[in-house]
Amino acid sequence: MKSIVIHAAKDLRIEDRPVEEPGPGQVLLRLAAGGICGSDLHYYNHGGFGTVRLKEPMILGHEVSGVIEKLGSGISGLKPGQLVAVSPSRPCYSCRYCREGMHNQCLNMRFYGSAMPFPHIQGAFREMLVADALQCVPADGLSAGEAAMAEPLAVCLHATRRAGEILGKRVLVTGCGPIGLLSILSARRAGAAEIVAVDITDFTLAMAMRAGADKTINTKTDPEGLAPYLADKGTFDILYECSGAAAALAQGIAALRPRGTIVQLGLGGAEMALPMSAVTAKELTINGSFRFHPEFAVGVELMRKGLIDVKPLITHTVACDEALSGFELANDRSRAMKVQIAFA
Ligand SMILES: [Zn+2]
Ligand SMILES: [Zn+2]
Repeated sequence: MKSIVIHAAKDLRIEDRPVEEPGPGQVLLRLAAGGICGSDLHYYNHGGFGTVRLKEPMILGHEVSGVIEKLGSGISGLKPGQLVAVSPSRPCYSCRYCREGMHNQCLNMRFYGSAMPFPHIQGAFREMLVADALQCVPADGLSAGEAAMAEPLAVCLHATRRAGEILGKRVLVTGCGPIGLLSILSARRAGAAEIVAVDITDFTLAMAMRAGADKTINTKTDPEGLAPYLADKGTFDILYECSGAAAALAQGIAALRPRGTIVQLGLGGAEMALPMSAVTAKELTINGSFRFHPEFAVGVELMRKGLIDVKPLITHTVACDEALSGFELANDRSRAMKVQIAFA
């Protein structure tokens, strides 16, 4: 079977790997769609991010859906031919954080396509994938592409949980890539009264409007665009920082009202400077947000009920053999939002 393997920065190869057999409690999936994520791009562009570096070839990919080909023993509730969204979150369920219900902080996490541990955790961009039945959420009624959006959606639903109460609140979103847009959809679903989105490209801002932002500001062409929101020590109750850019974080903090909350999703790849005096003086709360666990199934359910529509975010779908051009396309925020690879 074909697999999409990263060897080093800008060295992406399609390689033949053996198909595995599903064990007890596992299923064999024929991959349907795989979304290219910011972290996949970091491995592709830079060979890693921050202190995380590629030390051996790794199959990329963690945003996937597939069709069940074969069931291992002891499985109920799934059937061959069924489309499922596959959660890349594989916690151990037994470490101290798992036992506390903080599965995303698992000490033994085997999250697909991650070079954090060594040996690296191989990813899911492969034609045939063996997954635990526990990872598979039935996605009947969704397209393969929508089902593959469950992972980034779950990231933003988790961030929304980290934001605290949103009902009636004013929300600022900095960075309008897929995570920013899914944050807009999630915050709106949670009851945000006003959502303003900031980025530096008009293409992503137009997408943010489509996703339901009330107003967008291009801080590159309109550096003073946030000025009206700085009055009375700031306007917004909640900041979803999705860019990983220190400048965006600083702008967002200036526009937060006293006792506002920062939810930091963006991983800038380096340490980000923080205007700590403003955090102190305005008594701001900083909440990091990292991955997800129960939110994955919630995201699938919200999509299946038509309560969140991710379809407009999928701007490009390329064939597996075109993966390389797909990665280059995903790098271009002036025309691509979510680029997915069609495996079937
Ligand atoms: Zn992702
Ligand atoms: Zn654990």
